[in-house]
Amino acid sequence: MSRLNYFVSWLFILFCWAGAFGQKREVVVTFDDLPTSYEYSLQAKQEITKKLLQSIKSNNIPAIGFVNESKLFVPGEIDGRTELLRMWLDAGLELGNHTFSHVNLEKIPIEAYEEDVIRGETVTRLLLNQKNMKLRYFRHPQLFTGLTVEYQNALAAFLKKRGYTVAPVTIDNVDYVFAYTYYKAKQRGDTKTMSLVGEAYIPYIEKMFEFFEQLSKDSFGYEIKQVLLLHANDLNADYLDKLAAMMKRRGYSFIALEEALKDKTYSLADAQMNRGVSWIHRWRKTKNLPAVAEPDEPEFIKKMFNDARQKSMSK
Ligand SMILES: [Zn+2]
Repeated sequence: MSRLNYFVSWLFILFCWAGAFGQKREVVVTFDDLPTSYEYSLQAKQEITKKLLQSIKSNNIPAIGFVNESKLFVPGEIDGRTELLRMWLDAGLELGNHTFSHVNLEKIPIEAYEEDVIRGETVTRLLLNQKNMKLRYFRHPQLFTGLTVEYQNALAAFLKKRGYTVAPVTIDNVDYVFAYTYYKAKQRGDTKTMSLVGEAYIPYIEKMFEFFEQLSKDSFGYEIKQVLLLHANDLNADYLDKLAAMMKRRGYSFIALEEALKDKTYSLADAQMNRGVSWIHRWRKTKNLPAVAEPDEPEFIKKMFNDARQKSMSK
């Protein structure tokens, strides 16, 4: 082999290696249930918001938060809670509507759902307007888009007419199972359980990334731009830096929702599903691909979550 051929061969190997490992991935990080999940004190809500926003800022994440305005209306705390939303906007981030009261569409007729969407716009729109921004995104509570095709079509038409773009989720997960266990442990000062939950949380979310990356390749022939669903709570405030490091290690850069929606896969129709699931499952159904089961959370987390829930119900 001539010296030149030898050099070219090595160059080729190096090129393949860089291609395989330097994969360019993109993700939108979204937060639901603003100002925060759970019944924290106003002071705790302020701390969670501050910490979350610090981490979002230091990792350069163009995040978006979805608001349930019903959470603002607590006597004596309306201004304080509204201020938490303003903090998101002051950090240069966007807010969207997640319905007024986190409605469950299994339980109400479409007219009531639509009313709840409209009721959920008031404060958020006012705050956005003060920043010369428009209210443009909607996220379905529990990712329920309609339990019948008729309901789903009627709701989609209503949201479109109202000027909304639906914010899909591709990397769905049960962060709330970890977060609730973490929240309950924090309430009773159980730092041992808190760190157990935190340590299991990052590998679990990484497993969900692996799963949806592969499913995306299997379904569409490439890795789509992903949309991660998280909730505004203690666990994510304490662990977002570690989550961001995990995503960066996997080759992700953080993009805005608007960017992700330009990916051609997002223009596929979202098939009607009986559960709130990732849009990747919906698009697979549209393409007549079979359903695939998702990885489970660790057994001990499931058990701690169920125990904590039972305890709070028996109180
Ligand atoms: Zn929600």
